[in-house]
Amino acid sequence: MTQEYTSREHASIGAFPESLELTDGDSVLQIGWDDGTVTRLPLSVLRAACACAVCQGHHPSQSLNLQPEQFAGIAIADVAPVGRYAYHIVWSDGHDTGIYSLKMLYEMGGSDIANNP
Ligand SMILES: [Zn+2]
Repeated sequence: MTQEYTSREHASIGAFPESLELTDGDSVLQIGWDDGTVTRLPLSVLRAACACAVCQGHHPSQSLNLQPEQFAGIAIADVAPVGRYAYHIVWSDGHDTGIYSLKMLYEMGGSDIANNP
């Protein structure tokens, strides 16, 4: 399966990840962006925010309404870039349909959630 994506997706947030690393005992995904921003996303929060059709349904009424508390101890099994606009994350619970757009990751990192010690 090959899909082409345009670089215009990139321009929508104006930043691109330069580094990805797991910190805090592999419980936080830390992303360094090329605009100097560093976002820290707890994996449980990221897992609960999964926007795939399984987790969110095709309509809000079908959403599983996932909460970070359900994913204590979750880990990333694999992460791979999707074009230049997103990352495909495979989770330790076997969930592998989540695509996280760069925009989503960037904006999530700007919330209060990620700023807790
Ligand atoms: Zn999902």
